[in-house]
Amino acid sequence: MNIIKFDLHCPYCGKTFDLELEENATQDDLIEECPLCGHGIDIQLMLSPEGKIIDAEIHRIDGDTDE
Ligand SMILES: [Zn+2]
Repeated sequence: MNIIKFDLHCPYCGKTFDLELEENATQDDLIEECPLCGHGIDIQLMLSPEGKIIDAEIHRIDGDTDE
């Protein structure tokens, strides 16, 4: 199983961190903690028809869309 890595930009502290995921996702929405500030981040994955992750988008859990 392949591991793919994304550079994500934390919407809370503004720092970039690496997120490593298995290429074949079983869900398209997950919560990860920022390793730098500890805030929970809602991560939405875009999956190919084969179930492989092709992109990841982050959202603030509190629903504030101002980025
Ligand atoms: Zn952070």
